[in-house]
Amino acid sequence: MPAVALVVAAGRGERLGSAGPKALVALAGRPMLEWSVAALQRTAGIDAIVVALPPGVAAPAGCSGAEGGPQRSHSVRNALAAAGPKADVILVHDAARPLLTAELAERCLAALDADGGWDAAVAAAPVTDTIKRAPGGLGVRETLDRAELWAVQTPQVFRRAALERALARPAAELAAATDDAVLVERDGGRVRVVAAPRENIKVTTPVDLELAELLLAARAA
Ligand code: C5P
Repeated sequence: MPAVALVVAAGRGERLGSAGPKALVALAGRPMLEWSVAALQRTAGIDAIVVALPPGVAAPAGCSGAEGGPQRSHSVRNALAAAGPKADVILVHDAARPLLTAELAERCLAALDADGGWDAAVAAAPVTDTIKRAPGGLGVRETLDRAELWAVQTPQVFRRAALERALARPAAELAAATDDAVLVERDGGRVRVVAAPRENIKVTTPVDLELAELLLAARAA
């Protein structure tokens, strides 16, 4: 079954405090984006890679480019449109997760067809902190059962029809969505988690960038 990977790399990365786009920040000797592109190029079953990019930025070698949009979901939609109609399976990955491995991407792809099939399979790590709900950062309303909680990452793998339906949801919902799978869940789609290492961090703040450097260096050693 042909699969295409969409890498969203068009965020501004304001919380990182970098001068340019976050995806191009230097990380262990190459632009951050190139780490996930390299992992996807090693992934069995991925036929093509489309990257949603900030204005004026060229696509990495071997990838096609799409224009990023104002919100993450617009970037996903533009990249999907640029991917053409052939692929039945779409893998979406944030360029902000440079610790991606081909092994994790392959497990997410395989999970889509396991147990009778799913609409989406998303990488996620078991939560290790105790999570409390405290709206506004004050009084605690609830302590959630940690045994059931997963911190969701990318890659997220979708059946194309499920992702297309999800991306056609109202603009306000798309703008509020922090991942694509939540939109499939709202459509009544079957979404499963795929156990992923906590190491597959999202680079958001300068501390995350330092950690990613250390983890990539440890891998190379
Ligand atoms: O902002 P956040 O860290 O949640 O972004 C996750 C990913 O989505 C990043 O890789 C970022 O480049 C991408 N993104 C995008 N277009 C936007 C906003 C974010 O491609 N408009």
